[in-house]
Amino acid sequence: MVDGLKIEVCRADGQKCPRCWMYAGIPENPHGICDRCAKTMLDSTPEDFAKNIDPEKFEAFRVAFVDLQREIKACYAAQAEKYMRR
Ligand SMILES: [Zn+2]
Repeated sequence: MVDGLKIEVCRADGQKCPRCWMYAGIPENPHGICDRCAKTMLDSTPEDFAKNIDPEKFEAFRVAFVDLQREIKACYAAQAEKYMRR
């Protein structure tokens, strides 16, 4: 640690994506996941993400993953609806 070193974190609009740490969260997504990661998740299966997971924990992971995919889809649907109303 260097004396006096201070890291300033600029908070951009939106939330920090928990997956890639980019400040590009989709508005209204409760998990703050970014657009790029959201699309990756929608195109993936829980198996793609859980290659090294303990098989005993896989079922819980799969359920959480599918829930998150559903939330992302709902979020996109809500956004699409907003655009249509403009
Ligand atoms: Zn991301």
